Amino acid sequence: MSASKKKRRPDYERMIADLESGRINAFAVWHIDRLTRRNAELERIVDLVEATKAQFACVSGDVDLGTYTGRMVARILGAVSQGEVEHKAERQKAAYLQRALEGKAWGCGVRRYGYDSDGITIRPEEQKVVRHMVEHVLKGGSVNSLVTWLGDNDHRTSQGNRWASRAIVRLLLNPAMAGHRTYGDEKRIEVDKPDGTKQEITVTKEKEPDAFIVARDCWPAIITDDERRRLRVILKDPDRTTNPGGSNKRKYLLSGGILICGLCGRPLTGHRANSGLPGYHCRKTAPYGGCAKIRIAAGPLELDVASRVLARYASPVVRKRLAEAASPGGDVTLGNELADLEEKLEQLGRDYADPMIPMSRGAFLEANKSLAAQVNDVKGRLKQAQRSTALPEMVTPKSLAAWWAAAEIEERRGLILTVIDHIVVHPSTRPGFRGLDKDRLTYVWR
Ligand SMILES: [Zn+2]
Repeated sequence: MSASKKKRRPDYERMIADLESGRINAFAVWHIDRLTRRNAELERIVDLVEATKAQFACVSGDVDLGTYTGRMVARILGAVSQGEVEHKAERQKAAYLQRALEGKAWGCGVRRYGYDSDGITIRPEEQKVVRHMVEHVLKGGSVNSLVTWLGDNDHRTSQGNRWASRAIVRLLLNPAMAGHRTYGDEKRIEVDKPDGTKQEITVTKEKEPDAFIVARDCWPAIITDDERRRLRVILKDPDRTTNPGGSNKRKYLLSGGILICGLCGRPLTGHRANSGLPGYHCRKTAPYGGCAKIRIAAGPLELDVASRVLARYASPVVRKRLAEAASPGGDVTLGNELADLEEKLEQLGRDYADPMIPMSRGAFLEANKSLAAQVNDVKGRLKQAQRSTALPEMVTPKSLAAWWAAAEIEERRGLILTVIDHIVVHPSTRPGFRGLDKDRLTYVWR
């Protein structure tokens, strides 16, 4: 095993152990740099040869570890070899970073989906697939339904594997899909600037992807920057991505605060009744803390909610109000606003860490808190704006019904929440009645 690697060399260690124990009393090497390329190791061998009087032969040169001159030659040769190893590693690292800063594509590795193996030339067939993914997610569609769609149409990853939701999210959030070059191996790297001075740049994997983009617009983009910002908000929504596998995907249309218990005022949660049919109930156990006295079957209730919500949505008055609320292009502005705020947050952190800028911890925390609150606010508004872009545009009853039938549960919830604030569910007055008792419901419209 080469002496230049930092790995352990078991055979080398065995040889040293045999020398120490006296099992062998002579050894030969081709060149001193085959034996070791590290000074500390060489010192140990010199000591060992001195102590054991072992014979040492070097085929390519006259290195005699038994004499002072020989040891000095060995040390010089060793030092030169060690330097060579370090320089080579440095040169490789510097060349790699240089490529990144110049915005050149990665030289090797796994082919990025959508592009040829040069990482620059777009593959039109795959570009179409990526565009479909982007539009689907931006319209409020789920990543899980994309997995199904990709599987049904036999689209495979660049490695020929089936698409998993994690891989889709990674692809959609990858800055390289927007033409940007990233560099993410080191936490802090020193860069030589043209004027000869050095500059330290920080690149970490923990930060938002933008933090380690080192060169922008290096090759044709498949996903625009604006789309990427919106995708980030959607796909990084913790409600949605805590488990991309899908087990925490929402199963109940009206859970999460749409239905309110008429007795205790707590939100009803979805559950499967003893009969096996889905329903909603007021739940007592922590963290719900409800009265546990209200339950209602899901089927007829959801049908009633759907028909009333769609009728309401179709009314010209409501449409006008909604159109005014969702100003065109609003989410683009919000996306930029969010990016600005995130930049400010980062700058604040850098300023605080900078010893040249005096800032008390209290002042930093105060400013940080205020910025974080603004970020949250914009994120909320952005989500609202994105929700309204996912709403149906046609308003004939037939087209609305078709939209509803094809929509995903999150899209349906989006529509419900644009017109309904909440629905109060009162206790049943007709025990055993299987249909929907409309007297039990109080709709509170927005
Ligand atoms: Zn209750």
